[in-house]
Amino acid sequence: MTQPLTPNSSTLPAMQQAVLAWFRQHARDLPWRTTRDPYHILVAEMMLQQTQVERVVPKYHAFLEALPTLSHLAEAATADVIRLWAGLGYNRRAVNLQRIARLIVSSSGGEFPRSVAALQQLPGIGAYTAGAIACFAFEQDVAFLDTNIRRVIRRAWVAPEDMPPPTPDRVLQQLGAELVPAGQGWHWNQAIMELGALLCTARAPTCWQCPLQPHCRSYAQWRTRDEQLFAAPDGMAYPRADQPPRRRAAERPETPFVGSNRYYRGRVVSLLRALPPDTHLPITQLGVQLKPTFAADTEQAWLERLLHGLHRDGLIVVADGAVRLPR
Ligand code: SF4
Repeated sequence: MTQPLTPNSSTLPAMQQAVLAWFRQHARDLPWRTTRDPYHILVAEMMLQQTQVERVVPKYHAFLEALPTLSHLAEAATADVIRLWAGLGYNRRAVNLQRIARLIVSSSGGEFPRSVAALQQLPGIGAYTAGAIACFAFEQDVAFLDTNIRRVIRRAWVAPEDMPPPTPDRVLQQLGAELVPAGQGWHWNQAIMELGALLCTARAPTCWQCPLQPHCRSYAQWRTRDEQLFAAPDGMAYPRADQPPRRRAAERPETPFVGSNRYYRGRVVSLLRALPPDTHLPITQLGVQLKPTFAADTEQAWLERLLHGLHRDGLIVVADGAVRLPR
């Protein structure tokens, strides 16, 4: 049984204040930071799950302009929601988002659940998204983990002598809950996420700019390993990183995305999005539109499996030998 870790109570207040002060000065101006509307927060969090901030910002504005309230989303044609999702990828999120909206509208007249436990009952909402909505919409002092928060907590508060890596999420979650300053959960979680996104990055943490540096456990460790150090702009030596440097794009192998199942799922949805509303596409025409070399005798079973998966996920409707977006 892993023992819980506790933050050092003599340094915690200074670390909290340093992070909050840094955030006040350096926070990016992101549209979901100026609202407490749970619907807007939900849309942002669903979009941010697998898409970068820069790509999300314009899509977030366009989505909320078209569907400004939870009721608008619940009542929209699913095809329109899928069309609005174009450019974000992982289209299943659009269908899940609408399922959530329809459930909240039908079960509680559009009143959002407020507790983390109740939010986690919604389809497609995990511990992170539930915590983010509870915190960013309802300003609750809750802790939750995403990639950035996990990395910052682990580096700043967990030394290898405390617990050999990797630190289990359960331990980080318990530790994270002790870090949240009372009454400042919104600012704290935003700040830690921002610090992980801008300074304490996976491969090149810029410790010389970091407000946590005076008390950071990893920084203290790295300082003792000379080979990890390099000269920073302020003339001091800092850790290079605790992970190998990222290879330049030209050196990286091609990601095998084109030709993958996900690629063809996206292609089917894109083809249907481009059709006028309520238009069907015969399956006999779909194969060659997906692959110019499509051979029905050997690839028909693959195509049917692909369409079955999309149908099961609510992204398309397969009926009478044709496919269309759901109404
Ligand atoms: S001092 Fe460096 S390793 Fe520590 S939290 Fe800051 S950026 Fe991350």
